[in-house]
Amino acid sequence: MSKTLPSAEELETAYIEFACFSLQLFKEAANDPKKFKFAAVNSQIALELFFKYYFTSSGKVKDITKIKNGVAANDYVDFAQILNHYFNTHRLNLGGKTEFKNLIHCRNALVHRGQLTLPDAELAKIVVRSFFFMHAISRFHFGKELFSQLKMPSGLARMKAWREGVHEFVQDLICTADTPLFTCIHCQADSMVSGEAFQIDDCFDEALICLTCFGQVNIEFQTNLLDCYRCGDRAYLIDILNPQECQTYVGKCLECGVNTRMFKCSYCEEFFHPSETPPVERDQHIYCSHDCSHYYE
Ligand SMILES: [Zn+2]
Ligand SMILES: [Zn+2]
Ligand SMILES: [Zn+2]
Repeated sequence: MSKTLPSAEELETAYIEFACFSLQLFKEAANDPKKFKFAAVNSQIALELFFKYYFTSSGKVKDITKIKNGVAANDYVDFAQILNHYFNTHRLNLGGKTEFKNLIHCRNALVHRGQLTLPDAELAKIVVRSFFFMHAISRFHFGKELFSQLKMPSGLARMKAWREGVHEFVQDLICTADTPLFTCIHCQADSMVSGEAFQIDDCFDEALICLTCFGQVNIEFQTNLLDCYRCGDRAYLIDILNPQECQTYVGKCLECGVNTRMFKCSYCEEFFHPSETPPVERDQHIYCSHDCSHYYE
């Protein structure tokens, strides 16, 4: 039987499907930790298909196919060899080489011997890294996003294993990407980086993006940072694009770290903090002063 190699489209569809399934299992593992190993097996499959997709789509499939009698055969070399080849020919700040090799060993021990060689927490970190890795490479080379196709499960950002995995990935990223790191004003994880360092969706270079919850803050609109009500520094960043209930906005001081909400006056549209300026409520609107509440019609 003569096999033909799959097309880039087939490999792309397949890797995304396995990545989706892996993410779903990962989320379910929050309540059922036994599922981390199944998330890991599926993430290994997704990664293997992803690398084959990458080489096929880049017109370099011969780099990863076997040679028989001096002729390229319609069969791939081992995944471990594909990984070696990739990391030997690409310089990255995303990590992954050691982690993905461990994932192969772990997957083999599990599938062939029924043995688990890595603790769940370690497996979870590798799974998280694999998503960020595939997303970044696909976006960089092909302008296609993995995360926007994955339908991120709700509550993921609150999951301990996800937060720890992202934390580890971000530590590697900032070591080499020379990007400042902020605490997210939405989910409070220390994983907010510049849009230049890691791109998701149509996040601008001038934006900050949290890799835990994918919340963004567009700092173009934020050039006038507010004076912090506690430390007085002009460093209080608020997410003006996402108003919360009762005219409040989430925010955080990039200097001293306080992160309580600010109000926005219905009349003058200034932001103010209740510890400095008691809010005035009138006809279901919030104002910064009695004057503002009377001017407003
Ligand atoms: Zn966040
Ligand atoms: Zn402050
Ligand atoms: Zn006002």
